[in-house]
Amino acid sequence: MHFVHFNYFMKPVVIIGAGMAGLQAASQLHLNQIPFLLVDAQNHVGGRLHSEHIKGFTLDVGFQVLQTNYPEVQRSLDLSALDLAAFESGAYLWNQDSWLAFVNPLKQPGSLFSALASGIMSVKDAYLLARLWFITQADVPPLGSNESTQDFLNRWGFSSKFQSHFLQPFFGGIFLSAGLNPPASLFRYYMKQFLEGSAAIPAMGISAIPLQMADALPSDSIRLGMQVTQISARQVTFADGTSVAAEHVILATDASATAKLLGVSLEKGAFWSTKTLYFQAPAQSNRKQMLHLVPNSRVLHYAYLNHVQPSYAPPGKDLISVTTLDVSMNPADVLAELASFVGPSIQKWAFLKEYLLSEALPVVGAFDELKQKATDLGIVLAGDFTGFPSLQSAMNSGRMAAESFLKA
Ligand SMILES: Cc1cc2nc3c(=O)[nH]c(=O)nc-3n(C[C@H](O)[C@H](O)[C@H](O)COP(=O)(O)OP(=O)(O)OC[C@H]3O[C@@H](n4cnc5c(N)ncnc54)[C@H](O)[C@@H]3O)c2cc1C
Repeated sequence: MHFVHFNYFMKPVVIIGAGMAGLQAASQLHLNQIPFLLVDAQNHVGGRLHSEHIKGFTLDVGFQVLQTNYPEVQRSLDLSALDLAAFESGAYLWNQDSWLAFVNPLKQPGSLFSALASGIMSVKDAYLLARLWFITQADVPPLGSNESTQDFLNRWGFSSKFQSHFLQPFFGGIFLSAGLNPPASLFRYYMKQFLEGSAAIPAMGISAIPLQMADALPSDSIRLGMQVTQISARQVTFADGTSVAAEHVILATDASATAKLLGVSLEKGAFWSTKTLYFQAPAQSNRKQMLHLVPNSRVLHYAYLNHVQPSYAPPGKDLISVTTLDVSMNPADVLAELASFVGPSIQKWAFLKEYLLSEALPVVGAFDELKQKATDLGIVLAGDFTGFPSLQSAMNSGRMAAESFLKA
């Protein structure tokens, strides 16, 4: 075994994983002028935030949005440089045989009346939603309760129609859990974020977010295509047999890789899975800037992404994303499932590409053994699985990891 010679013989901190957690850890160290080496097995930064550019379309590897209200996002990103375009706040709800625009009542109170008139939402649903928004603190600790979201919605008495037509497909798409199993406290946190903030996508795709963070770091501090195979508190070994010594190690890999590196086996069912399928179609002039929530279906939602962010499709084309939790669905299944919701224009949809993400989001609470093992070995962990699945949590964990050395 021989040692890799980087700019500094010994790096005070080696960060493994250049997803949002690792990038945020690196940014904090850089701000404090502490040298670091950030490595990633892949040839790009961003981990689960990745985009591909194919035939003039921008395809995010799994549909996702940037919540501009997240405190870490506000603190650390230059949002104007991302050239963001926001979804209109709300969703299209299926009302017997047509779509009803349900705009966020905080932004357009009148839309409450059409939702009430349609019967999708009852007066009690409207009252419960308002009460929930009012009593939920913006910074409510997301993991404070063990009650599942579904149990909470039933206990509060939301109507089954409002659940099937709005809450289930909307929050199912955020949690990537059809049964709304994640904790109710997380539901309340996200609900507050969506009601008060906006959900946006950058002009160059979701990967523009990590690229912005990486661009602000010294380029010789980032090494890509370097898979770590072994770690200890003071040494990191790569797949090619080389090693680097470290004063400290921050392990910011995804939960699966973290478990492998620490020699811990994860329980079955530690992740939520999803599939995003992209279709192209001739451009429609009627812009639709919210998600279409599909009730009681294998598809959760679909969206015309270029109606929100025009750069996502070439001129004259629409780019449609379809999100499902049924990862066995193929393009033909999607077209059959959506035919009655989209109408005759679905015949012009042409399949572009699909992304199956079997470990899209970590299940809250499934990683206690992993965290304990890291503590025992003196390795600092970062990553969304250490908190809750979101950019906020991933970035915050990276900040905390870096700060643990700054305070020492
Ligand atoms: C489909 C989908 C939709 C989502 N929607 C949203 C959303 O709308 N809003 C939101 O806030 N969040 C969303 N998320 C969650 C969000 O993307 C993640 O929480 C966040 O990106 C996780 O960042 P991370 O740094 O913790 O992990 P990762 O991004 O997984 O980064 C880990 C990194 O470690 C690297 N690595 C792994 N093993 C090794 C090794 N052995 N050696 C070196 N490097 C290694 C990987 O290559 C990777 O780059 C979504 C996620 C998915 C997949």
